[in-house]
Amino acid sequence: MKEHLNAAMYTAKRSAIREFTALAKATPGCLGLTLGEPDFDTPAPVKAALIEALERGETHYINNSGVLPLREKIAAFERREHGLSYAPEEITVTAGATEALFTALFGVLNPGDEVIIPTPAFVLYEEIVKLCRGVPVLLDTAPAGFQIDGDALAALLTPRTKAIILNTPNNPTGCVYTKQSLESVRAAVKGKRIFVICDDVYRALVYGPGYHSFAEYTDLREQLIVAQSFSKPYAMTGWRMGWLMAPAAVTEHLALLHQYMITSTPAPFQRAAIAALDVDVSGMVNTFRARRDFVLRRLREIGLDFSEPLGAFYVFPSIQKYGLPSAEFCRRMIREAGLAATPGYCFGGEGHIRLSYSYADEVLHEAMLRLERFIQTLERENHGH
Ligand code: PMP
Repeated sequence: MKEHLNAAMYTAKRSAIREFTALAKATPGCLGLTLGEPDFDTPAPVKAALIEALERGETHYINNSGVLPLREKIAAFERREHGLSYAPEEITVTAGATEALFTALFGVLNPGDEVIIPTPAFVLYEEIVKLCRGVPVLLDTAPAGFQIDGDALAALLTPRTKAIILNTPNNPTGCVYTKQSLESVRAAVKGKRIFVICDDVYRALVYGPGYHSFAEYTDLREQLIVAQSFSKPYAMTGWRMGWLMAPAAVTEHLALLHQYMITSTPAPFQRAAIAALDVDVSGMVNTFRARRDFVLRRLREIGLDFSEPLGAFYVFPSIQKYGLPSAEFCRRMIREAGLAATPGYCFGGEGHIRLSYSYADEVLHEAMLRLERFIQTLERENHGH
């Protein structure tokens, strides 16, 4: 019966991020810069709020979209911190941004509909689109320094284009879309029946001025769907909490899909999520900024080229000059230098590796030494030829 499953199941690939993390774990003494999650503990007030909710007995069925106080809190937070105006009825509390993205894509796609995915991109998008019987259409942003080129985007539009997914700051590049990139997208979708799905889960982790989300284009509000997450800003990756925002008429349908899939996110987590939105994350952001500055300085010393990451906790240096495919580069680096990174091909960014700097300073120091030695080995080899 194995071959008798929903045919879309056979298109889903295993995550190579997990594969390289497992390879690193199986190699004694190997350091890994492969994971995309904060190394901090979930803030104490969030944990305390969960315990309190449990003790108060908040363990029963709740509103499918999340308890009203949480949706009100999110609405106020979005307005105050990000200038986005969504009513509680336009917010669905989801199992992380992952479920928000799945709900959004399943909710908008008919079989054969095309979704434009600027690459390099988080692996999830392509897989979800295929599971929903849509067609991923990849827009390679590497030639434009990981920005969106209006002509390249326009060339991909067809009558079947249903959505475009924007992720800024970006996983895996750490790059933030310029106003010009956002304007290119706006020009491409304005007046057309194309959704823009904004995955802005790293928007709290930005290290300079000039960050804008496409969600700020309120005149295109009817076309916007926003996926958000508690995972990254509050070190809550294991809690599986996020939210989805869309105009009321769209939310009405997406919320039903969410209801049939998971009923609701866990009842006691609602209070914890409310507490999270009061947490000041500036200390964590400063720590990430310092780590980023250190890693970028070392990469320059080592001689690796990269597009400046302005957000998230990734940098995506080019390894093109060493002439190795990214998977082989990463396998050799684990074996010969005891350092794991994620190969760029996983994200549709061959010729690069993703380094995550969400690790302690000592780990990053040692990792950069190992990277330096490995690069020196490759340079000696290349000169020998
Ligand atoms: N979007 C991006 C760009 C991500 O990097 C991740 C997590 N790695 C997610 C969404 C999913 O986050 P969550 O834990 O909220 O499901």
